[in-house]
Amino acid sequence: AKAEGRNAFQYYSSDLNKASLGELLLENQLRGALDRDELLLYYQPKVQASDGRITGAEALLRWSHPELGVLLPGRFIPAAEESGLIVPIGEWVLRHVCAQLRAWLDAGHRPVPIAVNLSAQQFAHQDIALLVRGILTEHRVPAELLELELTETMLMRDVERTVGLLARLRGLGVRLSIDDFGTGYSSLAYLKLFEVDVLKIDRSFVNDIRGDDGEEGKIATAVIALAHSLGHKVVAEGVETKYQRDFLTRQQCDQFQGYLFGHPIPADEFIARLHTDTQT
Ligand code: C2E
Ligand code: CA
Ligand code: CA
Ligand code: CA
Repeated sequence: AKAEGRNAFQYYSSDLNKASLGELLLENQLRGALDRDELLLYYQPKVQASDGRITGAEALLRWSHPELGVLLPGRFIPAAEESGLIVPIGEWVLRHVCAQLRAWLDAGHRPVPIAVNLSAQQFAHQDIALLVRGILTEHRVPAELLELELTETMLMRDVERTVGLLARLRGLGVRLSIDDFGTGYSSLAYLKLFEVDVLKIDRSFVNDIRGDDGEEGKIATAVIALAHSLGHKVVAEGVETKYQRDFLTRQQCDQFQGYLFGHPIPADEFIARLHTDTQT
């Protein structure tokens, strides 16, 4: 019974870090997380396919939970979306990235563009162009240092509005990319209307490139050709192996993001890596 008790506790504590924590409890805690300054951003490098140099980074949200440690977005973004907290959280992310860029500029670094993930709610309900313009101005950050990642699903919801919004965002000078490309349901006819800089091939298609199957990489290859024919650059996400890198390079993929080139890391580690990267 004693051993059982210990096991029960082990299950309890590891469950706590997975799923057992009630959505409501988590949601309540998340509400305070912003005020208590428990949110943080990690930065994952994006590299040039031709020479492996860092061309930018994606800011990825983390929650430094007082009891559970650092939580990944999969644990709390659903609750944030459910409750609408994703809107103030998303605003925090934009401000935080711009403040970070400003701090890097002030310290004499030459930062690369940083990409921010926008949520569907931010895109649908906020005047996102006005917000972005305000934050860039507030922190005196050049617009071309900010990139916004938008998913197909967000873009397809109201195509007419999207086309106008993308034009306004582009007018500000920020970079735009379509995230998780290939997993949504964009109509190719509309895709042509969306003026973006980059298509990001979803990780699932990159994961298919394994050298064990004659059909491998067909979707990734098609997405690269499609993106290029529309005048967009292509970033492959979730690149974990040299085999994937070499395959995608042969298909003329422009940039890579994935564990092979670096995990998401804290800001100071990222800027240190950028520094050594540009020196060599
Ligand atoms: P995403 O936008 O598709 O971000 C890429 C995810 O893939 C990140 O997970 C990253 O850590 C992971 N990843 C990168 N390289 C590899 C790889 O080589 N292999 C594997 N297996 N995974 C890789 P993360 O940080 O857990 O974020 C998950 C999702 O949470 C993001 O997916 C994005 O949809 C959302 N998210 C993250 N930060 C924010 C944010 O600030 N705002 C909003 N609205 N959503 C965010
Ligand atoms: Ca993303
Ligand atoms: Ca993605
Ligand atoms: Ca994804």
